[in-house]
Amino acid sequence: MERIAIFPGSFDPITTGHTDIVERAAPLFDKIIVSIGQNIAKNYMYSQEQRKKWIEDTFKNTPNVEVDFYQGLTIEYCKEKNASYILRGLRTSADFEFEKAIAHTNREISEIEIETVFLLTSSEKSFISSSIVRDVIKNGGNIKNLVPDPVFQSLKNS
Ligand code: ADP
Repeated sequence: MERIAIFPGSFDPITTGHTDIVERAAPLFDKIIVSIGQNIAKNYMYSQEQRKKWIEDTFKNTPNVEVDFYQGLTIEYCKEKNASYILRGLRTSADFEFEKAIAHTNREISEIEIETVFLLTSSEKSFISSSIVRDVIKNGGNIKNLVPDPVFQSLKNS
């Protein structure tokens, strides 16, 4: 059976913290689907299409990475995609507590076996978050080392 992992998130925008997790996870799975979740309670800075395009451009040379959107429960989406794994990155102990509750809930409510696989962020990327990147962008700072090149190039030209 193919080992398919979903990497769910907002990716508003994708950062080098996200790419670090995907690149390190790519050898572990046959396919990783980076999936942009739609949360109606959240106000996004960038459109879904823009976020998807940046992720596609970022991973254009990584053949086992796909990009998609989803709505609703992550476990239902996993079922639809035949994915048995949810990939998440851990930066801090706060991330761990939050993710632990979600992973336990997912196991509890899912009728299919889904394992959440956590990768620890590389130490030099642990401070990066999309919300900090958005603040730097809004205030005109340099995001070169915080986002993958396609995001940097596209924002530089905008
Ligand atoms: P969400 O709204 O689900 O938190 P994000 O786009 O912020 O969406 O994050 C998606 C995933 O990427 C989460 O598992 C998050 O912990 C992980 N992540 C975000 N930034 C980093 C980073 N700097 N290092 C490692 N993992 C990260």
